[in-house]
Amino acid sequence: MHELSIALSMIEQIEQETAKRGGKVEAVYVRVGVLSGVDTQALRFAYDLACEGSGLAGSRLEIEDIPLLVYCPQCSSTHEPRPQNIACPRCITPEQEILHGRELEVRAFEIVQ
Ligand SMILES: [Zn+2]
Repeated sequence: MHELSIALSMIEQIEQETAKRGGKVEAVYVRVGVLSGVDTQALRFAYDLACEGSGLAGSRLEIEDIPLLVYCPQCSSTHEPRPQNIACPRCITPEQEILHGRELEVRAFEIVQ
């Protein structure tokens, strides 16, 4: 499962951070773009599974869904298309610059001492 390896690498990254600072992780905040290819429900499930037995057991996963935002170089506008069709709604140019929607990152995490 794709999401499980993502959850495991997130947890590994956070464990390395907390090893330096100490404390217990309460919550992890991640950003998941609609084009990241990650199923957020599967990620939640995988996260709980991957947390068991790790230093992050019992922590909360907070997912922020990032919608698609693209820029049209033709008419210099931004719009929020559906991921299936990102062409500009004004000039129908298919080549759009993706500003947001590919994110898959740990934004922050909360530690209690
Ligand atoms: Zn356009």
